[in-house]
Amino acid sequence: MDVFPVPDLPEIRPGDSLAALIDERVDLRPDDVVCVASTVVSKAEDRIADLDAFPAGPRAHDLAAGLERATGEEKDPRFAQAVLAESADLLMEAPFLLTETNFGHVTVNAGIDRSNVRGGDLLLLPEAPTESAARIETGLDADRVVVTDTCGRPFRHGQRGVAIGWAGIPAARDWRGERDREGRELGVTVQAVVDELAAAANLVAGEGAGGTPAVVVRGFEFGDHAGSDALFRDVEGDFVRQALHEWSFE
Ligand code: GDP
Ligand code: MN
Ligand code: MN
Ligand code: MN
Repeated sequence: MDVFPVPDLPEIRPGDSLAALIDERVDLRPDDVVCVASTVVSKAEDRIADLDAFPAGPRAHDLAAGLERATGEEKDPRFAQAVLAESADLLMEAPFLLTETNFGHVTVNAGIDRSNVRGGDLLLLPEAPTESAARIETGLDADRVVVTDTCGRPFRHGQRGVAIGWAGIPAARDWRGERDREGRELGVTVQAVVDELAAAANLVAGEGAGGTPAVVVRGFEFGDHAGSDALFRDVEGDFVRQALHEWSFE
């Protein structure tokens, strides 16, 4: 498998066609997986926003005050309001806002970014990243697209890339029912393939000023397995989320 960046992409502006910009810079093959950092998908979709667009209501003021108490840092209630607007569920209120985005991805601050943003205070995640991925795929010679974000994680230090949207490839590869080397049947393993591709791509994309938001994964074979698009857990089956809810809102 080869993983290489798309060279010489410009600063992405609202209205840009990412597919066209990528397609003219690399000779893509149909089975390439093109991984695109959500940062540039958001820029192309004009998800740049100013804090002034989010006048804080009472809930946002409460959240900001709670965050200030927990962290000793000054917090802008308008930022809390932006997070609320981008979220379907609030899992933790302090010492940071852990939320489920409106499209089902659980992350800190609804994934709102303040790095690599030009022309505004905030960069919101794409509204519907799976639709974004499908749109980009339509314009590319490659048939598989993953939209990624850099994301923190519980239990471990350090951030890594995850998939927040995908097209042309199932999210996961189901090994259940297949056998290991000893002939034992696998009972639980569903491999989050798009996250693993996103992590590899994110490693190549980097986090700073590198200017490489699109990465091609060439030579990845999904193989002869059942696929699944379930990546985000439902609340009913998410015991960690249930425990967090009990702990933070008791
Ligand atoms: P995120 O992981 O989606 O939040 O994106 P990052 O802010 O970590 O950026 C990922 C990569 O994209 C880094 O190499 C950045 O330098 C690069 N990048 C961000 N915005 C742009 C842009 O508008 N144009 C180009 N060419 N690169 C960008
Ligand atoms: Mn960023
Ligand atoms: Mn981000
Ligand atoms: Mn990143």
